[in-house]
Amino acid sequence: MKSDITIKLERCKGCGICAAFCPKKVLAVDELGKIQVVNGEACIACGQCELRCPDYAIFVDKKEAAK
Ligand code: SF4
Ligand code: SF4
Repeated sequence: MKSDITIKLERCKGCGICAAFCPKKVLAVDELGKIQVVNGEACIACGQCELRCPDYAIFVDKKEAAK
């Protein structure tokens, strides 16, 4: 995984915008109407989910490469 994805579930309304813009299909809305990480290994840390979320409910930290 290239990133740490943090989800603030109390802010997420399950609109699915982040999942729709994710180029790697990392995210999906679960049966409770909250976003979840379903394929974290595929994340390229592009930041689209964080940028597109209207409720500031998801944050992506790019992991530094190990030295
Ligand atoms: S940072 Fe990019 S690849 Fe990773 S979950 Fe968000 S939209 Fe998908
Ligand atoms: S865009 Fe934001 S509010 Fe909508 S499903 Fe994703 S994290 Fe939740």
